[in-house]
Amino acid sequence: MKCDFCGAQGAVIRKTTKSFGRGSNLVVVENIPVVHCASCHESYITAETARELDHIRKNRRSLGKAKRVLVASFKKSAA
Ligand SMILES: [Zn+2]
Repeated sequence: MKCDFCGAQGAVIRKTTKSFGRGSNLVVVENIPVVHCASCHESYITAETARELDHIRKNRRSLGKAKRVLVASFKKSAA
């Protein structure tokens, strides 16, 4: 597909998992289609994907399924 940033053909979609929010607002979304461009090395989600993510985050109680997951915090400071 075509890259929205540089216009080159050759952008590919990779499914990725991301988490949003924290604590009781935390929701993990699997299989998010992220576009990766081999020409400009940009990675981005489409407006349509962003809208869907927004929808999932707002409706996470009804759309989400409770799963047992291990959540670790990164302790070391970046500095
Ligand atoms: Zn590009």
